Amino acid sequence: MVTMICGCCGSKNVRRDAFAEWSEEYQCWELAELYDDSHCHDCGEQVAIEEIEIQMGASM
Ligand SMILES: [Zn+2]
Repeated sequence: MVTMICGCCGSKNVRRDAFAEWSEEYQCWELAELYDDSHCHDCGEQVAIEEIEIQMGASM
């Protein structure tokens, strides 16, 4: 398993820019396209997102 963190401060409070499309089949918004623009809510600005491994069974 992996998770995404802010490359600047290490926060998991990060978002990616994306388009969502309405799915009649599932009756919810589905991600249609994912963009490279990433935003960290802790830094309050655009950042690079890093992918890190999650240790299974590690206590939070
Ligand atoms: Zn950050």
